[in-house]
Amino acid sequence: MFTLQLSDTHEMIRDTARQFARDEVAPSTIDRDKNGIFPTEIIKKLGELGFLGMMVSPEWGGSGLDALSYVLAMEEISAVDASVGVVLSVNNSLVCWGLETYGTDAQKEKWLRPLATGQIHGAFCLSEPEAGSDATSQHTTAEKVDGGWSLSGTKNWITNGTTAGTYLVMAKPELRDSSLDSRRTSSVFVPATRAR
Ligand SMILES: Cc1cc2nc3c(=O)[nH]c(=O)nc-3n(C[C@H](O)[C@H](O)[C@H](O)COP(=O)(O)OP(=O)(O)OC[C@H]3O[C@@H](n4cnc5c(N)ncnc54)[C@H](O)[C@@H]3O)c2cc1C
Repeated sequence: MFTLQLSDTHEMIRDTARQFARDEVAPSTIDRDKNGIFPTEIIKKLGELGFLGMMVSPEWGGSGLDALSYVLAMEEISAVDASVGVVLSVNNSLVCWGLETYGTDAQKEKWLRPLATGQIHGAFCLSEPEAGSDATSQHTTAEKVDGGWSLSGTKNWITNGTTAGTYLVMAKPELRDSSLDSRRTSSVFVPATRAR
């Protein structure tokens, strides 16, 4: 039988997440679930604990931890409230990871640092009414226009959709060159325009 040996750091992260889940998340879980309330204060506190950019390099304001640390924290938070867990996973995995891996330094300075430190949280916009598992059949397009890009399409089921500070939107570039793969997808950062 395989037994996982946790380091002192892993145990500390697991215990911190467990205690936070019990003390800060559990008391309001039922109320938020029944009334559809976003856990704004909880996410803010998780950001202060460094849980919004767990695997992001300290260079960009993250905690610089490994995947096991992230999984341990996710387990503890999600065991108490899966909705809080999915807010964390989207920010850590879908938004921060992609940005740190593929973004430019200018994009990281502008977006990754506030995302990793919990000043804002992000949304990852891929699914569409007719494009879930088969994401390549999405219809949203990104067209280069004077001064930037014009996006056109509809996204569904977006975690953090009403609260995010920035949206990482998947779109198909308008392909004028027919030799390019028509399944090609681009990622575009769209800043939130609502008052926060
Ligand atoms: C809690 C939650 C949070 C989410 N957050 C986000 C988010 O932040 N951003 C985002 O973009 N999306 C998000 N989604 C959407 C999610 O990614 C989609 O629901 C998912 O991709 C599945 O798409 P669908 O619901 O259209 O189902 P479909 O793709 O229509 O699938 C329906 C069923 O058919 C099965 N199926 C599909 N294709 C095949 C196949 N080829 N062979 C066999 N079986 C198949 C599937 O397994 C499933 O059981 C979220 C969903 C949930 C539940």
